[in-house]
Amino acid sequence: ATPTALLVGTGRGAQLGILIKGPEVLESTRRVDTVVLDKTGTVTTGHMTLQEVYVAQGADEKDVLRLAGAVEHASEHPIARAVAAGAAKRLGAALPPVEAFENVPGRGVRGLVEGQDVEVGRLASRPLPEALAAAKETAESEGRTAVVVTRNGVALGVLTVADAIKETSAEAVRRLRALGLTPVLLTGDNERVARSVAAAVGIDEVIAEVLPEDKADVIRRLRDEGRTVAMVGDGVNDAAALATADLGLAMGTGTDAAIEAGDLTLVRGDLRVAADAIRLSRRTLTTIK
Ligand code: ADP
Ligand code: MG
Repeated sequence: ATPTALLVGTGRGAQLGILIKGPEVLESTRRVDTVVLDKTGTVTTGHMTLQEVYVAQGADEKDVLRLAGAVEHASEHPIARAVAAGAAKRLGAALPPVEAFENVPGRGVRGLVEGQDVEVGRLASRPLPEALAAAKETAESEGRTAVVVTRNGVALGVLTVADAIKETSAEAVRRLRALGLTPVLLTGDNERVARSVAAAVGIDEVIAEVLPEDKADVIRRLRDEGRTVAMVGDGVNDAAALATADLGLAMGTGTDAAIEAGDLTLVRGDLRVAADAIRLSRRTLTTIK
């Protein structure tokens, strides 16, 4: 009877918008007690837009936008898309070309623009002028991601980007809690931004400023603490963590790498369905017993 019951569970899953890699996947969900949620693209939409432009004393706003936009134009990162599109729009002009482009995952980008060495992100922990540091902290504590723009190693300005929290995220967290699960927010983004997003959706536990290659280690550490961990993610950055978790749930709206690494796919990218998936597999297993 076991295989039939599992297949029924799998069929119901498809109706709910859950793709299950194999019936055996349902087994690992039973003991899950912790659900790690990636921030960008999972709890938030991941569609960022450029907001404030803070300019260092003596620098020009147009230079900040042009140089940062030019370097970010070469990157696919959601921050990069927001900066490049926002800069081109505000300048009303095409961005200059970039040479020697370099992407440093989890940190930012750099390249040569108009013969100058330009960096955008959190590449180096250079001291920022006080006014810029204050503006950056305010934006971060309000949930906006701030990146520093430097020219030849000198801070030119700070750009902030906003990413909307998905309408369904707070309800999803409530449903996970109702199942007795502890939600954890995991992100490469700044601690203040992460805290702000976590507070808005009802998450207490935050693990921030984690480099892409360290996300799987975080999952391993939680498992070493004796927790049984489900991970929900969408990005290329999340693939190793999804594979390391006891249960990997990929957003169907995310990257192929994440979908391949996950045990379950939430077809519509609706986080509420993560809770439904866990409830469904528990019920299916109860039926079997
Ligand atoms: P997440 O875990 O939210 O997907 P990432 O690991 O991709 O975040 O990035 C972490 C941080 O690295 C960003 O919040 C930003 O400060 C910096 N960063 C990464 N890529 C870029 C980029 N293209 N431009 C500017 N900053 C970047
Ligand atoms: Mg993500």
